[in-house]
Amino acid sequence: MSLKNSYLQKVYEDVAQRNSNESEFLQAVEEVLESLELVVDKRPDLVKAGVIDRLVEPERLISFRVPWVDDQNCPKVNRGYRVQFNSAIGPYKGGLRFHPSVNASILKFLGFEQTFKNSLTGLAIGGAKGGADFDPKGKSDAEVMRFCQSFMTELYRHIDSDTDVPAGDIGVGAREIGYLFGQYKRIANQFSSVLTGKGISYGGSLARTEATGYGLCYFTQEMLEHEGKTFAGKRVVISGSGNVAIYAAEKAAALGATVIALSDSKGFIHDPKGVNLALIKVIKLENRGRISEYVKTEKHAEYHENAASGGHGIWKIKCDIALPCATQNEIDEDDARALIESGCIAVAEGANMPSMPGAITRFLKAGVLFGPAKAANAGGVATSAIEMSQNAMRLSWTFEEVDAKLKGIMVNIFQSAQRASADYGVPGNLVAGANIAGFLKVADAMLAYGIV
Ligand code: NDP
Repeated sequence: MSLKNSYLQKVYEDVAQRNSNESEFLQAVEEVLESLELVVDKRPDLVKAGVIDRLVEPERLISFRVPWVDDQNCPKVNRGYRVQFNSAIGPYKGGLRFHPSVNASILKFLGFEQTFKNSLTGLAIGGAKGGADFDPKGKSDAEVMRFCQSFMTELYRHIDSDTDVPAGDIGVGAREIGYLFGQYKRIANQFSSVLTGKGISYGGSLARTEATGYGLCYFTQEMLEHEGKTFAGKRVVISGSGNVAIYAAEKAAALGATVIALSDSKGFIHDPKGVNLALIKVIKLENRGRISEYVKTEKHAEYHENAASGGHGIWKIKCDIALPCATQNEIDEDDARALIESGCIAVAEGANMPSMPGAITRFLKAGVLFGPAKAANAGGVATSAIEMSQNAMRLSWTFEEVDAKLKGIMVNIFQSAQRASADYGVPGNLVAGANIAGFLKVADAMLAYGIV
């Protein structure tokens, strides 16, 4: 543990003792507490009211059985969760993840991070996350539908447009949100903004699909411009080829960069001429296929299977900008060293917690511009909140209107994080700046409520 302040050390030790098997959650808590070392001496009122002690404990963790029947008529059981982490500044808000790796630790880390991210957007939304250890890969549409209906049959009693508004995440895209919303509407007898990421024909917002990836590039652009640089002419490596990665690639290319690599959980492609995104969309979004198929059409490109240790090979490709958009802990210290040695000038996180703590330290020491997930990927949830506003007003804004609001929010997030980093004596350290700016709003609200 690297914490120096004795009060924060005690907070961390208590969290570690209560959640001893939850490495991802502990990693996320430690990173935030490190930033709060800069705050606690200036804010003894928060310490006295136990705000941080309360903030590291989720308000509610719901775990439930999800029984369903496969196409062979065989009963199956998965475990569903919703972690309602913090509602100090608004209804709980955060995605649902369907992936075999899902467990309480991963969802608690994501819900904790989401609390600060949502605060940073400047909108009135609390933090949550949920999901199930269900793998949609290889399942038929009918199986996915039956799973989603069973999942929502339990979840619906815990959510509401003023209580908790889930969205998508890994493994939960437009298809899953459609099945989930259909079941909610049927059993709650309500057409409300209880889920975001909905289809356009039933209350979804234009630009929500693109928002996290586009927002990531707006944030990165702001970070670059602050140093007198731009995307134009830069080589960009992006991990993943899901919702976030694909739209980050689209926007980076629109801003004049060349995206030279993308990946999935099996391997990565390297196309020095610039990735053919239309082909990637067909392979990954339409056909739910493997990225390896890319080289069957684009024969000059290379495909590399991942080593057993994971998807790290992609970070050995020489690039100017790296945008990790797949999953947590996908950049370790060796990857960070390789990126720095190859001359990479900026890393911005589209995925949640993709960089391991040692990697972040290396980037900051080497002067690489570093946009942490809480700030850089907040465009998705911000646009979800914009979807909630449109639903509440029963109207819909155009793509351009939503995109302009998204861009404004990402610029504000960069400025808030930048300002907080300067105010607390670590100018340019956006990790600390984002944690502090996100924390202060939530903490002040918690202080106002007394001990609840
Ligand atoms: P998708 O399911 O659409 O895509 C995930 C991509 O990452 C896929 O290409 C997948 O490969 C790859 N991937 C998943 N797990 C692993 C793994 N363990 N190792 C290597 N590759 C992996 O998810 P999203 O794009 O929505 O989410 C990606 C990240 O962005 C997550 O960290 C998520 O929490 C974060 N995020 C998402 C937001 C959103 O609006 N969707 C908002 C903010 C953050 P394969 O195709 O083989 O499964």
